[in-house]
Amino acid sequence: MSFVCLVLAEDYTTYERPYAIHVTDLPLRVTSEEISQIFEVPIATILLHPCFRLEQSHVANGRSSSEAWITNRKDEKTARALAEKKTGTFVRTNKIQCKAMLEPINEEELCENFQKGQCLYNMETCYYKHFSCSEPDTCDDEYCWFGHTNKRTTISVSRSKYRKNNLFFFVTFI
Ligand SMILES: [Zn+2]
Ligand SMILES: [Zn+2]
Repeated sequence: MSFVCLVLAEDYTTYERPYAIHVTDLPLRVTSEEISQIFEVPIATILLHPCFRLEQSHVANGRSSSEAWITNRKDEKTARALAEKKTGTFVRTNKIQCKAMLEPINEEELCENFQKGQCLYNMETCYYKHFSCSEPDTCDDEYCWFGHTNKRTTISVSRSKYRKNNLFFFVTFI
């Protein structure tokens, strides 16, 4: 048994979260095509929060604007370089702002087995996403759903339970 654990622990591969560029102050009706041309990136890597979703738009200098994320940047350095290069670029009449950041994650997509250091698949073969915690052995955040090794002693709250609890609150408050 201890042999199996040792093998699993040594098999633990670190998967770093990709970087993204958060672009703000975009004109209201900007399109993914325009952003793709400005940043010279494929349209598929762009997440755009369009103007018609009012809760997503921000008021900047007295008028509303759109925002976008350019996802799947390989590392912080290249993401920062592109963000710096494009900050201040005019898109129509808007001067845009760009900031490199870790890519936002949808927690529903994270692998619950990788979180415990027990997934038998890897990033390419697992249906869910594998992203590593920055403290894979010692993390004591029980709401952390990133990947850990099986040496970790804290056990994260099960996400399905967490979701049910939230749903319960949601239902009771309505
Ligand atoms: Zn997995
Ligand atoms: Zn963690």
